Amino acid sequence: MSIIDQLGQIWNQILDLTAKFVVPDWGALIGLLPLFVLVGVIGPLISLIVLVWVIYMIRKPRPKLKIDEGPRAAPLDVAGQPVYPTGYPYCARDGLIYPSGSTVCDGCQDELVVTCPKCGIGRQARIDTCENCGLILRIDKNAQTRHLQPAGPPPGGAAAA
Ligand SMILES: [Zn+2]
Ligand SMILES: [Zn+2]
Repeated sequence: MSIIDQLGQIWNQILDLTAKFVVPDWGALIGLLPLFVLVGVIGPLISLIVLVWVIYMIRKPRPKLKIDEGPRAAPLDVAGQPVYPTGYPYCARDGLIYPSGSTVCDGCQDELVVTCPKCGIGRQARIDTCENCGLILRIDKNAQTRHLQPAGPPPGGAAAA
């Protein structure tokens, strides 16, 4: 037997083997046709629904960030001293920062203090107008936002010229 014949024999064996794996069993495939239809139709449909849902979730207007939730611990500076942001009531005794509109500490019942964002002078949080610079810290509790309103010209000041 020549080497060519041997190769041909091996090749035929390979073809036989491949045919067993590759040639589909059409009968079984036709039996699976409803499944293919199901996958072909339902699959894309589900994909579409998922896609629409994902797009909806991404584009959905996010619920308003709620900032006024309650007292939070004041962050500490490098020296370990609590740092209080201006414009927010705080309790120095407990080191708590309170949401806008709070006037009394929940913990120690102390009057809360607020630092004026304009001039840095502290005052009782229940007072909405800075006695030093006149800045009004108006608190709109419904909108839960803080409005900083610069005071108008001091009475008699601008009219002097
Ligand atoms: Zn307190
Ligand atoms: Zn001020």
